[in-house]
Amino acid sequence: MLIEAARLQDMISDIFVAAGCSAAESARIGLYLVRSNLTGHDSHGVVRVPRYLDLLKTGDLVRDQTLKVISRTETLAVVDGGYGFGQTIGPAAVELGIEMARAGGTAIVALRHSGHLGRIGEWAEMAAAAGLASVHFVNVAGSMLVAPFGGVERRFSTAPFAAGFPVPDGAPIILDFATSAVAEGKVLVAANGGKAIPPDSLITETGALSGNPDTLYGPATGGPRMAKNGKGAIRAFGEHKGSGLALFCELLAGALTGSGCAGPDERRFSNGMLSIYMAPARFGSPEAFSAETRGFVDFVKSTRPATPGGEVLLPGEPEARMRAERTRGGIPLPDEVWTSLAVAARAAGLSPERYTGSAS
Ligand code: NAD
Repeated sequence: MLIEAARLQDMISDIFVAAGCSAAESARIGLYLVRSNLTGHDSHGVVRVPRYLDLLKTGDLVRDQTLKVISRTETLAVVDGGYGFGQTIGPAAVELGIEMARAGGTAIVALRHSGHLGRIGEWAEMAAAAGLASVHFVNVAGSMLVAPFGGVERRFSTAPFAAGFPVPDGAPIILDFATSAVAEGKVLVAANGGKAIPPDSLITETGALSGNPDTLYGPATGGPRMAKNGKGAIRAFGEHKGSGLALFCELLAGALTGSGCAGPDERRFSNGMLSIYMAPARFGSPEAFSAETRGFVDFVKSTRPATPGGEVLLPGEPEARMRAERTRGGIPLPDEVWTSLAVAARAAGLSPERYTGSAS
C-alpha cells in the first residue's frame, strides 16, 4: 500500500479529532507521525496510532496539554508536559529553547513527563531551522529494556540521543539514534516473522548473545508478544561507550529533569528530554563560523569511499533523501499497518478509502 503523505496526514488528524483532541493538536499528531515515515523511521510513524489511542482511552496520555513552566532563569527552563502528546509538548519545549537561546546565546530546557516524543531528530531539525545547534538527551520512564555493558539485566530504556548543527547554505547535520543496539520495534517485527535482528543484539539471562526475539519476549504463546514475559534484554549499542551514553541519557533526561529514570517500579510511560540550545552568532563571527563549518563539511564529504561507488554520508542525509523520495512517490505502508489505521478510522466513523483516493 502506497499512500500520499498529505492524505495520510489528513487521515491521522481526522482520527484524533474524532478521539476528542483539538483540531490543532490532531493536525500536529498527523504532521509529526507522517514526517517520521517520510524520513524512513517507520517505527516512530503512523504505526503508533493504535497505541496512542489506547493511551488516550486509559488516561495515560492527556489531550491538549500545554507546557507548564516549573522554574525559569535566563538560561534554564524546567518544564512539565503533563503527559500530553509529544507532538504538542515537543515543539512547545523546542520553541521555548529557541526563544531563550536567541535572547541569551545558550539555553537548557529540561522537559519532564511528556507523552511519546517520537523521532527526536525532529526537534534537532526544528532548532537547526532556527539557526541553532542543539543536543538532546532523552529517556523513557516506564520502559526498561536495555542491559548496561557487562550485565544481563535490564536497567535502561532505549534512551535516544540527538544532535543538530546548522550548516550555512546547506542542509543541517542531524544525528539521531536510540542507544540500544536495536529498537524494540525491530525485535517485535522479527518476533512476528519479519526481518531478523543481528545475532548479537540481545543478551540472555545467562549472558549469551542472541538474535532470538524470545530472549526479550519469552516463548511465543499465541498472544501478544510482551517484553515483560521475557528474561533477557536488548544490549546497549557500541559496547561500553554506547552503554555509557545510555546511562547519561537516563541521568540527564530522567534524574536531572525530574521525569524519572528507567527503574524496577511500575511508572507511567513518559519521555524526559534534556535539551541544550546554542546560537552560533553569539559565539563569534558568523563569517568565520560559516567558513569553518562549510569547509569541514566539504572536507568530510570528500573522503575517498571505502567501497567502489560508495559515498560518505553525513548524519541526516539518509533521512533527507528518503524524505525527498517519499514526498514524491508516496509512503509505503505494510498491510498490517494500513489495516490497523483503517480499523481506527472506521471506529471513528470515517471511511478509510476516502484517504486512499480509491472509490469507497
Ligand atoms: P538508526 O540506527 O537508523 O540511526 C539513525 C542515525 O544514523 C541518523 O542520524 C542517520 O542520519 C544516521 N545514519 C544512518 N545511516 C548513515 C550513514 N550511512 N552514514 C552516516 N550517518 C548515517 O536510528 P535508531 O537507533 O534505529 O533510531 C530510530 C529512531 O527512533 C530515532 O529517530 C530515535 O529518535 C527514535 N527513538 C525514539 C524514542 C522515544 O522514546 N521517543 C526511543 C528510541 C528511539
